[in-house]
Amino acid sequence: MRRYFPVSLDLEGRPCVVLGGGPLAAEKAQGLLRAGACVTVIAAAAEAELRHEAAAGRLALVDRDYRPGDLEGAWLAIDASGSDEVNAASRREAAERRVLLNVVDRAPMCDWIAPAIVRRGPLQVAVSTSGESPFLASRVRRRLERDLGEEWEPFVRLVGEVRRRLRARGAPMAEQEAVYAALLRSDVRRLLREGDAAGADALAEELIRNPRSGRVWLVGAGPGGPDLLTLAAREVLATADVVFHDALVEPSVLALAGPDARLVDVGKRAGGRQLPQERLNAMLLEAAAEGAEVVRLKGGDPFVFGRGGEELAVLTAAGLEVRVLPGVSSATAAPALAGIPLTMRGVASSVAFATARVRGGDPADLGRLAGAVDTLVVLMPLDGLAETASALAETLGGARPAAVVAEAGTPRQRVVRATLETIAADCAEARIAAPATLVVGEVVTAVPMSLPTRARVRVGAR
Ligand code: SAH
Repeated sequence: MRRYFPVSLDLEGRPCVVLGGGPLAAEKAQGLLRAGACVTVIAAAAEAELRHEAAAGRLALVDRDYRPGDLEGAWLAIDASGSDEVNAASRREAAERRVLLNVVDRAPMCDWIAPAIVRRGPLQVAVSTSGESPFLASRVRRRLERDLGEEWEPFVRLVGEVRRRLRARGAPMAEQEAVYAALLRSDVRRLLREGDAAGADALAEELIRNPRSGRVWLVGAGPGGPDLLTLAAREVLATADVVFHDALVEPSVLALAGPDARLVDVGKRAGGRQLPQERLNAMLLEAAAEGAEVVRLKGGDPFVFGRGGEELAVLTAAGLEVRVLPGVSSATAAPALAGIPLTMRGVASSVAFATARVRGGDPADLGRLAGAVDTLVVLMPLDGLAETASALAETLGGARPAAVVAEAGTPRQRVVRATLETIAADCAEARIAAPATLVVGEVVTAVPMSLPTRARVRVGAR
């Protein structure tokens, strides 16, 4: 494999030569013209487009085939003639004159190769596979194009304008960076995408005056790996200053936080005890008061048995700006990933979500709830599973199908299917460990047993 050194060349006003007059030559000439190069095309027969550009004075067209000597004085040359003789001759001349030559589709004859490019005005992303696979280069470019919407063009211009202003007034680097970070994570891009340039400018002015957000995001991380994170969650993670996360959040999800983000595990303390909620609330308030962009990252959905409600109440009472990003809850995802539909025509038309660990709660309450719905999903079921299952069996009968899905959405996902009578023993035997979710109801056996392994039911996996 060849090795390449990527650069962005300034070709403004510099002579460049294109050999050949076909569609490829025209495309190459246009690329050079876009960069402001002074382009000469050498071709006995040239595309109408090239003749048109020449007539308009945008490039010089030499109306004959290539001759040695044509590369003199060129900074760059592109041989798009498609002729083996011309390729060989231009290659020789380029080597003699030290002109950097690209022979189209002949990588071994090239001094340089052209990357696939994502263009968003001043923002250009060049993709190269060092010639290994132009196909992949173009697919990667398309992916980046999807990620970097058209709004990036005005956004980069806006940030460039802000940068010139801050530098002109001698703003220290730390202040500049705070402003750029604030612009990046703000709604400015959304406003530009929606065509509201005035709104974007107004918001940018506000952020220049006060870049410190002091905002808290309550974010759902989904049940496991990063595939089941929302796009919005991914975005705020990438720009957060500090991330307070649960112990359950996977390292692969935390890896999506920016390199400068401070990650704080508030799930468990060294001794294995939970951090008191008041202490956590104080930490969130303190970080926000310092102006940080704070992410409170919770497993699943923040408002499903996640104490998100309590945190929201405390933060809003303190007058903070709080935003909530829902997540894919394990309450629905764990059954889904095991191939268990929570509702299904003719089998189940209602579902309830509960936790097995209601402080001071009576297991019989759970039985009453289970009696009122077709499917029951129980979170945190492993402590006292035998007791929970037998309480449920009193209402539903011991033969009612039950399944436990552990570590759903991770490569370690496991599913135990049984009945209320046997589920606790089966889980003990399989050494099922938290986090796990219990599903009780006919839906557990509604779809043939052979299906539900993660390998076969790949929901959300790419
Ligand atoms: N807010 C979370 C739930 C927090 S309570 C959510 O919406 O998913 C913690 C419980 O969630 C665990 O005891 C377990 O019952 C369930 N849980 C979390 N992650 C899980 C996973 N990957 N697989 C199965 N159950 C999970």
